[in-house]
Amino acid sequence: SQIKEVEFVKSSGRAKDCPKDDRPEFAILGRSNVGKSSLINALVRKKEVALTSKKPGKTQLINHFLVNKSWYIVDLPGYGFARASNAARTDWSSFTKGYFLNRDTLVAVLLLIDASVPPQRIDLDCANWLGRNNISMTFVFTKCDKLKASKGKRPDENIRDFQELIRENYKQHPAWIMTSSVTGLGRDELLLHLSQLRNY
Ligand code: GDP
Repeated sequence: SQIKEVEFVKSSGRAKDCPKDDRPEFAILGRSNVGKSSLINALVRKKEVALTSKKPGKTQLINHFLVNKSWYIVDLPGYGFARASNAARTDWSSFTKGYFLNRDTLVAVLLLIDASVPPQRIDLDCANWLGRNNISMTFVFTKCDKLKASKGKRPDENIRDFQELIRENYKQHPAWIMTSSVTGLGRDELLLHLSQLRNY
C-alpha cells in the first residue's frame, strides 16, 4: 500500500476536463487551512508535489496526481475560505458538486476535518451533502497531535462531538481515521484503507 511514485498529471477547471481514464481515484476535500497540503505531502513524502496546487490560480482547480501509475489522488479546492466572496463560494459549490456527481471513477472522498477545533457547521453541511448524494466518504481528522488550547477540548473530544452530530444522518457511519502530519499518526492506516477501498 506504500506510495513509490507520484506524478502531477493535470489541473482542470471543470469536471468534464478531468483526465479521461478508468483508474480509480480519491478526492481530498476540506476547509482552507485544515491541513490538506501537509497531509498530501506527508502521504507522498515528497514536498514539491502538493505544492503545485498551492500556486496562485491553481487553488480553484481540480488537481490530479497519479500514484504508482495505478490510482489518483485528486486535490480539490478548499471551501469556507473566509475571504472568498459570495460569488467565489457559489462557484466552488457548483463546480465541485459537478465533479462529485459525474466522476464515475471516484472511489471515495476523503473529507478532512480539523480535530483541534469544535465541529464546524460548514464541515457538517459538506458531510451531509455527500451522504445525501450517496457519495462514499472517509473522515480524515487532521492535527490530532495538537494539545488543547486553554479552554478548548482535546482532539479526541472534538472528534467524538463531530461523530455524534453526524450519526443522526447516516444509516452506515463513514469510516474515519485520526492523523497528524507532524507526528505521522495515521499515515500507514490511511494508505492501507485506500488500498482496501481500491480492491473492494
Ligand atoms: P491547507 O490550507 O488545508 O492546505 O492547510 P496546510 O497544509 O497549509 O496547513 C495549514 C496550517 O496548519 C499550517 O500552519 C500547518 O503547519 C498546520 N498543520 C497542518 N497539519 C498539521 C498537523 O497535523 N498538526 C499540526 N499541529 N499542525 C498542522
